[in-house]
Amino acid sequence: MLEIPESKTISLQAGKTLIGRRIKKVVQATSSHKFAFYCGDPAGYAKLLTERQVKSANGHGMFVDLHCDESICITIGDGTNMRYYSPVEPHPDKHQLLIVFDDGSCVAYTVAMYGGIWVYKGIFDNPYYQRSLNSISPLDDTFDELHFDNIFKGAAKDISMKALLATAQRIPGVGNGVLQDILFNAGLHPKRKKSTLTDFHKTELFHSLKMTLNKMTDLGGRDTEKDLFGHIGGYKTLLSKNTVQDPCPHCGNVIVKETYLGGAVYFCPACQSL
Ligand SMILES: [Zn+2]
Repeated sequence: MLEIPESKTISLQAGKTLIGRRIKKVVQATSSHKFAFYCGDPAGYAKLLTERQVKSANGHGMFVDLHCDESICITIGDGTNMRYYSPVEPHPDKHQLLIVFDDGSCVAYTVAMYGGIWVYKGIFDNPYYQRSLNSISPLDDTFDELHFDNIFKGAAKDISMKALLATAQRIPGVGNGVLQDILFNAGLHPKRKKSTLTDFHKTELFHSLKMTLNKMTDLGGRDTEKDLFGHIGGYKTLLSKNTVQDPCPHCGNVIVKETYLGGAVYFCPACQSL
């Protein structure tokens, strides 16, 4: 899934690989997908994109934007995969959008369960997108403790740690993936109530949020996700589907998986206090 480390990694890779390339051919979805979302009719994408030149790439929250000249942009959100293929690599037969560049390389967009591929001119007025674009990222220095305090204070008293971090778009791009290691590093259980946190806990959570996301990003995303080239990220997740039932890296207790708030949570019952 696209969360902050992956959207940042993929946009950096797309910037290095695609800037200056001109789009020569656009192929629409080869298979229909009930939960692939578009801006208007995707049949119009070829007209918007053909002959456009890639100018920049931007990753924020759970979105990756590929900006072209003439104010044309391709945005993908969580659930959509964006994969680059060099001129000598065969691209997949099944995709929801394929764009071919002037050097014969291409980018294939595929949707697994659900996801958006939005091509538009000018501004994309999706509220989740706008919120993500206009929020301060925890990767930025301006996301300081005061900023985190304001987010913290704005949430309901009895909200759990998982709900605080990963619901209501309080911190766009922090979702059910990255929150596991953020809470582990802060020593907090996903179900721990906000009202039970001391100032010390709150500061620990702030530092863990920044440190964990920076590390995940610096290492090219998590090892549960793939980058623009299809490579698995270099950050080894402490708590994820890859480590469930493994011993906790701190204390050796078995890592537990539970379903909570519409998704899996992983935790060490000894290191993460409830
Ligand atoms: Zn432990």
